[in-house]
Amino acid sequence: MDVHLNRRQWLKTSSAAVAGWMVGGGVAGAGSLSGPDRESREMVRLLYNESHFGISQAARRAVMDALDDCSAYPDDHYHELKEHIAAREGLKPENIILGAGSIEIITAALHVHMSRGRALASDPTYFDFVDYAARVQCPLRQVALTDGYELDLAAMEREADSRTGLVYLCNPQNPTGVMTPQEKLRPFCRETSRKALVILDEAYFDYVEDSAYASLVDLVRDGENILVTRTFSKIHGLAGLRIGYGMARPDIIAKLAQWERNFAPVSSLSLKAAMASYRDEEFVARVKRQNREVKLYMYGELRRLGLAYLPSQANFILFKVRRDSQDLAKELEKRSLLVQPLKFRGADWIRVSLGTLGEMQAFVAQLEDLIGSRVRSLGTGRGASRRRPQGPPG
Ligand code: PLP
Repeated sequence: MDVHLNRRQWLKTSSAAVAGWMVGGGVAGAGSLSGPDRESREMVRLLYNESHFGISQAARRAVMDALDDCSAYPDDHYHELKEHIAAREGLKPENIILGAGSIEIITAALHVHMSRGRALASDPTYFDFVDYAARVQCPLRQVALTDGYELDLAAMEREADSRTGLVYLCNPQNPTGVMTPQEKLRPFCRETSRKALVILDEAYFDYVEDSAYASLVDLVRDGENILVTRTFSKIHGLAGLRIGYGMARPDIIAKLAQWERNFAPVSSLSLKAAMASYRDEEFVARVKRQNREVKLYMYGELRRLGLAYLPSQANFILFKVRRDSQDLAKELEKRSLLVQPLKFRGADWIRVSLGTLGEMQAFVAQLEDLIGSRVRSLGTGRGASRRRPQGPPG
């Protein structure tokens, strides 16, 4: 991958950009995004795949109630939440570790296993994994996706050797949103986990609609050398509370726990919110439905604009643009919309998180305004673009 802005880089630059924009009173052309007061307009962040569909009311109540007990440290073994997760997944509490976001668990695994050899991941993959590997100076080998934008498991299997300390995969994949069917991934994970720890990041697991998908937590039950991670940052809408979990054999969990630098990385409020949300299956199902509705709306609009996209099993869509994606993202930022530009395989792409319908309508209006003239100048005006084939770009 050639171009992306990771979370830390963006946070460093964006506060300056937002401040500058606010002082300047905004940019002409952004008028449809919010109310009449130009100074009060805020950035719409369609950048980090956060949920824009609120939190469970049960989680809200749990946090309010837990405030009264804030003077006490949290239960450092987090029994209650671990027991809930273990019961649902057919595991034991010793199979579970909690962290301040799933990235904390993934980075712990990087620290523990990098001494055994390099890391192996796809290209592109979750940006923060690449960033953390670089920060801890873990050599990383990345393997290009297949022509169909799937993980190239055959090539990754060839790359995994005695010099490999860990293999990182996410399913569904970030930034593509594409999922790998369980019948392909399961044998790969069984085989590769004999050589190295396999981290399977299931951050977007709750959004998947394709019946060929399944979590591979059964490999943890089978005692394979695998760590499955999940998060409360996505469908549960609790990204700001920083809580995620990992599932693995007790000996793998014990090594990750040794690396922890904080005796209680998860706050009691985060714990209570996560527990209430985890039990609130109706809430999770509702957010999944809302995400689907917005996704279908976006598919229709991208087809109308003649922009090829990868059908997504997550809460974001990756689509191809016929101009420099970084410039386009900058133009969108001037109009208060933050998206992730990237380049791979010689093409320009934008990854857009799925916000509310209103936010996506605003996004489409601005996108169309920015690319519309170009689409027309290429002779693929509205009528023509509507007839373009749906589906993955070539
Ligand atoms: N894994 C993937 C694939 C992600 O896309 C993200 C967040 O964007 C994370 C992990 C981070 O999750 P958390 O907030 O639990 O650290």
